[in-house]
Amino acid sequence: MVDKILANLEKSNCAIDNTFLQAVSEVLHSLEPIVNGDSRYETYAILERLVTPDRIIQFKVQWVDDQNRVQINNGYRIQFNNSLGPYKGGLRFHPSVSIGVLKFLAFEQIFKNSLTGLPIGGAKGGSDFDPKGKSDFEIMKFCRAFMRELHLYIGARIDVPAGDIGVGAREIGFLYGEYKRITRSYDGVLSGKPYAFGGSLLRPQATGYGVVYFAAELLKEELHESLEGKSCAVSGAGNVAIHTIEKLEHFGAKVITCSDSEGTIYDSRGIDLKVLKELKGDERHASLIHYIDAIPSAVYIKKEDYPQGGHAAWSYPCFAAFPCATQNELSLIDAQTLIGNGVRAVIEGANMPTTPEAIDLFQSEGVLFAPGKAANAGGVAVSEFEMSQNASMEKWDFNKVDRKLSEIMRHIYKRIALTAKEYGRERNFVDGANIAAFKRVAEAMILEGV
Ligand code: NDP
Repeated sequence: MVDKILANLEKSNCAIDNTFLQAVSEVLHSLEPIVNGDSRYETYAILERLVTPDRIIQFKVQWVDDQNRVQINNGYRIQFNNSLGPYKGGLRFHPSVSIGVLKFLAFEQIFKNSLTGLPIGGAKGGSDFDPKGKSDFEIMKFCRAFMRELHLYIGARIDVPAGDIGVGAREIGFLYGEYKRITRSYDGVLSGKPYAFGGSLLRPQATGYGVVYFAAELLKEELHESLEGKSCAVSGAGNVAIHTIEKLEHFGAKVITCSDSEGTIYDSRGIDLKVLKELKGDERHASLIHYIDAIPSAVYIKKEDYPQGGHAAWSYPCFAAFPCATQNELSLIDAQTLIGNGVRAVIEGANMPTTPEAIDLFQSEGVLFAPGKAANAGGVAVSEFEMSQNASMEKWDFNKVDRKLSEIMRHIYKRIALTAKEYGRERNFVDGANIAAFKRVAEAMILEGV
């Protein structure tokens, strides 16, 4: 027993995670041309303040499982920067969650939220709780215990969490129910709520649909191409991947791959969304291996059977690739394979799924590369629409939300493309995104004083 406790402690205390440094390093290098040209950034110590979170909150989550055993998890909320508006960012429930991972996600969120042009600051939170294999009642008990602590730190004008990996409408519903019970307040303190009680139409689809709206604009402006008839590779099989695939199909593209944490599906006829949703949609967690029970002509590649350092989703010829699973999932080897097979564009649906070496290679080989903080900002944009609807007690129709979402995604593309050009980094959408997002946040930080 002592060994088990020590092993768990070691996991939560010693986990070395470099993703935060990776994210900061990318952003700061992008900002060189702008920070050297304006002395106010040094006078107000903007960069030092920007890389330091406002606060890191950690709490104990105690709950009782279906066998009446007491379970303990770590809960976190990192409120990184609220210069532009209330803290806003998802909650992730996954065993890999640590302060390091959440710091990287919260930091990226500041820039993503700034790019939307909406009044929202950056935050992220979550727990090392693993929802896989848990009953609905266990998920509910965990969510209630999590909210018993979290409610102290959030509020409709303070900090508005949403979903992320392992947190969908079911978890948000349980979390919201508990918030309401404790505080007696029915306000928009969480986004991604079910439509029945305050959720926005299109929020479940927003991130994936937004990724494809962004991609369509990018391809039209940069390559004079459309998605019609193009083969696309997607990784992941969760919320972002499913809705990216759905919208790609609406645009006439053929999606040939998707994946989960155990393996990859290659379907040369195009991924069958109905089958995929039966396995993975709406909190379902069946393995993708069962896809081939329904579609025997498809191929399933187990993760262990694929050569080390590469991902099977990227090994098939495609016009565009959409990594939509998790951070650092597309490596240098994958980039070499994709380029060898003639890929023209890589658009990130997940947060930082492409390693820095792979990004460098795409950029040097002339492959269009769109970072997640720009391409996947549609989810947080519709979350902000949900906040607006809650504040005014209104309900917008589907077409209104969809129109506003596609406008925002087109606008983000234009803004980052123009900014990249303005700073002599034409077609470098990483630098364009970082500089455009930074300018808005930094201006607010200067005006608000120290
Ligand atoms: P989900 O939990 O719905 O799906 C995640 C998918 O990725 C699942 O298919 C999961 O496999 C797979 N996955 C998770 N971890 C790993 C891993 N370590 N290795 C391989 N596969 C993995 O999450 P979302 O779709 O919501 O999020 C996906 C990405 O998009 C994340 O980076 C998230 O931060 C980002 N994002 C999400 C937004 C949203 O609105 N949901 C908004 C903006 C960004 P399995 O099915 O086996 O668990």
